[in-house]
Amino acid sequence: MQTQLSEEFRGTREGEDGAALLRSCVHCGFCTATCPTYQLLGDERDGPRGRIHLVKQLLEGQAASASTRLHLDRCLTCRACESTCPSGVQYGRLLDIGRAVIERKAPRSSLHRVARRLFAAFLTGPLFAPAVRMGRLAGPLLPLRWRIDGRDVGLSHAATASASLNSPKATPTRRMLLLDGCVQPALAPQIDAAARRLFARCGIELVNVTNDAGCCGSVHHHLTLPDGALTRVRANIDAWWPLVESGIEAILTTASGCGTMLRDYAHLLRDDPAYAQRAARISALARDPSEILAAEAAQLATQLPADAPPTRVAFHSPCSLQHGLRIKGVVENLLRQLGAQLTPVADAHLCCGSAGTYSLLQPALSEKLGHAKVQALQAGQPQVLLTANVGCLRQIAQRSQLPVLHWIEWVERRLRR
Ligand code: SF4
Ligand code: SF4
Repeated sequence: MQTQLSEEFRGTREGEDGAALLRSCVHCGFCTATCPTYQLLGDERDGPRGRIHLVKQLLEGQAASASTRLHLDRCLTCRACESTCPSGVQYGRLLDIGRAVIERKAPRSSLHRVARRLFAAFLTGPLFAPAVRMGRLAGPLLPLRWRIDGRDVGLSHAATASASLNSPKATPTRRMLLLDGCVQPALAPQIDAAARRLFARCGIELVNVTNDAGCCGSVHHHLTLPDGALTRVRANIDAWWPLVESGIEAILTTASGCGTMLRDYAHLLRDDPAYAQRAARISALARDPSEILAAEAAQLATQLPADAPPTRVAFHSPCSLQHGLRIKGVVENLLRQLGAQLTPVADAHLCCGSAGTYSLLQPALSEKLGHAKVQALQAGQPQVLLTANVGCLRQIAQRSQLPVLHWIEWVERRLRR
């Protein structure tokens, strides 16, 4: 698709990158069929092809409006369209450009701008953990839909507390960095605790670095607050660099949403001479835990208790895992090798509606997607629902009566039955 950049964008990084990305789109519309928001709203402007056209119009200097912003806001950034596109259009990168432009050309009200900044600061700041604790206290009084956690939290915390007593450990011969993150330590600390024990079984020590940034930057990135996102990215690179130089083998996160952000560090800081090289190294080291554990599956299977029963499991692969990181089938194969009977899940490519901050900013659309996802997951009558990202885990757990776990927790529990 040819773009006639307006004077304002000609010769700029934003304009030239946007035009290059637009060039690969042939406007065929295959992507529309797999877009969750198009399926729900039936409006071309709420599908990838329509949004691509809106970004093209912005870069060509056509009037920007609140309506344009609304259609770009409604995008989940799930990137299902990228998986479907036969021309390899990098829709996510194009959307980032479009969102940055629309924030300048059709700015939100001052109230909304302040609210978005406060929201990002709350989620990634020191007040979030106490707020979660208060929410947990009120939890039993609330409907399941509004609770902080799903049904399995008591089990998870009990398992975490007793686990160190009975988890055999190989002597660690390998070291990897495990990200702290921002919301996950407050919402589901048992996930990283289980990851440490599981990797220890494989002779891998997971070390962490607690720094002020904490967050990988994706919360600010989702809210189109690029300065805040880059501040966190740079702070993380500074904090992690001594470990990188000491020779750690990989950088891991148990939230696949953060994993996609890490892979983007190289792109985000490509024009920053002070950070570009180090950012590229961080992205090169970023791995999803499944990529490491897939190579360990056979030896983990030998550690399964003899009486471990087959379990019916439904796995929700987060968009960040299947479309962002393009890791497909790896977790599922690992689960099968460890005795899971995977139940079929219809429309597995569709987003659950969590999508970073989307569930809070677009609650009506998020609710429909969350409801549909839980129906699809439960259709095969599984005993447990598994996923790979804390946001998806909450979205599903708040709508299901079944236990909902991170797949790492399930594997780790299974090994020490
Ligand atoms: S993004 Fe890809 S699938 Fe969608 S219209 Fe463009 S070329 Fe076709
Ligand atoms: S990222 Fe997801 S919601 Fe956005 S256009 Fe692509 S498929 Fe649709």
